[in-house]
Amino acid sequence: MAGLYIHIPFCKQACHYCDFHFTVSLRHKASLIQAMFQEIKLQKDFFEDTEPLQSVYFGGGTPSLLQDSEIAQFLDLASQIFGIKSEAEITLEANPDDISLNRLKAWRGLGINRLSIGLQSFNDRVLQWTNRAHSADQSQNSVLWTQEAGFSNFSVDMIYGIPLLTRADFETDIAQFLTLKSPHISAYNLTIESGTYFGKQKKRGLLPVLSDSDDVWQMQYALQALQDGGYEQYEISNFAKKGFKAVHNSSYWHGAPYLGIGPSAHSYKPFVRYMNPANNRKYIESITQNQLFGIEEKLTAEDRINEYLLTRLRLASGVNLLELNAMGYDLKNQSAETLAAYLTEELLVLEGDVIKLTEAGKLQADRIVQDFFV
Ligand code: SF4
Repeated sequence: MAGLYIHIPFCKQACHYCDFHFTVSLRHKASLIQAMFQEIKLQKDFFEDTEPLQSVYFGGGTPSLLQDSEIAQFLDLASQIFGIKSEAEITLEANPDDISLNRLKAWRGLGINRLSIGLQSFNDRVLQWTNRAHSADQSQNSVLWTQEAGFSNFSVDMIYGIPLLTRADFETDIAQFLTLKSPHISAYNLTIESGTYFGKQKKRGLLPVLSDSDDVWQMQYALQALQDGGYEQYEISNFAKKGFKAVHNSSYWHGAPYLGIGPSAHSYKPFVRYMNPANNRKYIESITQNQLFGIEEKLTAEDRINEYLLTRLRLASGVNLLELNAMGYDLKNQSAETLAAYLTEELLVLEGDVIKLTEAGKLQADRIVQDFFV
């Protein structure tokens, strides 16, 4: 069940909402990639069992900025050191402006069998406002070529909660997403983080604001349209046609071990979480000195319970109270009042020994889960 995450911290330009770890300078790309190869070798004993990898995920940043030879080297190394199952899911995040039919064919030849394409919106005003590096036409072509190149498994990213769009604009945007026939869609609410360009604009009062009612309307409209379009919302932000749930993310949500390579990457194995420095220079320096991980955090019993709640409540399969009991948290008794209140408000349902968010509960998932934390 083990997974490998490879963080490529480079982008062509900074999207105004993004607070991931990346740089737009490619000056140290070669030395950083070499350090990442070295990190994979140093981590040869990370996994406790010897089962080959079930998933490899190139995330970022923008992994489609990698040369094909670099992708090949990552996969060769991973295969030599950990082994990769023949049926493993191997995902590359790609931006539409990096996608061409030739590149798609090359990626398939290298063993990439799933793409996650950063479309975000089909509205050119939104793409320019968020400083995306592509146009709506490029988005459309990138998906057509993905299908033409023979990728049956791919996902597209969509953002909602966008202040520039009228309700009619948003309906048009969603309709365009549905015409793509993508087997998987990840839909995210636009959040404004303080360190981003939008965060600074907000602080200065210069950022257009979406009213709360329009924000909720966009979310509900998107969720309903995707469900009507045949997608199962198997996690709050993730929608899949039958047979296309993401293996890599699903293992992560179910507590499987994963190793993260590269600056800012996180890793996990029972019951320790590790974090690499989110700084390219410090990362290269420490790997050059054969030092792994900036931070190592042993999870307490409470951490494990809270982590379980945080991931499971977001899943359609919900929180299993018997599993929680086995971890030492009798939620039905210890949080009886909170549970009763949410059941009465119809934000949660109790099905046997499983609690799940209702449609209304999904809009308040963050608040609800925090109320159950130990
Ligand atoms: S391309 Fe992706 S990682 Fe890079 S700045 Fe934009 S959203 Fe962030």
